[in-house]
Amino acid sequence: MLLENMSYVEVEAYLVEKDTIIIPIGSTEQHSPYGIIGTDFITAEAIAREVGRRLDILVAPTITYGMSQHHMGFKGTVTLSPETMISMVKDIVNSFLEHGFRRIVFINGHGGNIEPVKTAFSQLKYENKKGIFEIISWFLLPEVQEIERDIFEDKNGYHATPSEISITKLLRPDAFKTKPTEKKRITKNKIYFPLSAEEFKKAYPDGRMESAPWLAKEKYGKLIMEEAIRVISRKVRDIQKIKIL
Ligand SMILES: [Zn+2]
Repeated sequence: MLLENMSYVEVEAYLVEKDTIIIPIGSTEQHSPYGIIGTDFITAEAIAREVGRRLDILVAPTITYGMSQHHMGFKGTVTLSPETMISMVKDIVNSFLEHGFRRIVFINGHGGNIEPVKTAFSQLKYENKKGIFEIISWFLLPEVQEIERDIFEDKNGYHATPSEISITKLLRPDAFKTKPTEKKRITKNKIYFPLSAEEFKKAYPDGRMESAPWLAKEKYGKLIMEEAIRVISRKVRDIQKIKIL
């Protein structure tokens, strides 16, 4: 059920029965020469929409920009400042709260979004807003990471991972006709975080973070996405059972 395809009359009817809404969130940022710039929002959107379809829950339009300042050394990346991101999340959540939604679940495809989204949730609670605010990052689920280890061993890395690139290969096969597939070296750095754009590019000159994106395959994308959908559906079902205080 996609919010963008509904009328306000249909949203009113939905709110009589349910108070949950899913919001996919990702980023617009480089994913090495092997991956596509929309990776993080494309993966989050596909997973979120399938969870919504299976549980009959409303899915809001995808937030396609995130906090990606460390990738700004690479062309095509767009970043929000932490302040903008926090304000945006607050404004979106507040809008849904005003209409009577009480369980607001972000399904996230980008690590850099976690801190500002959680800060926005804390700010909303500081303002005494009622409800459950949750962010679920599909790539951090232990069940998903176990499959990634089985398939890619220690080569999944942290950015432009073969896991996320397998999912985008499945979802946007045409985009990969022009992307490289040759193997490169994986360098493991001892690194600190967060990093500025300049620091990131020094540590990770081609945009990968210890990953082997050339291992990506559509069939792996299917497996990983299915597991993420299964686990997140269970989590959202559990959220629906919690009593709002
Ligand atoms: Zn990513």
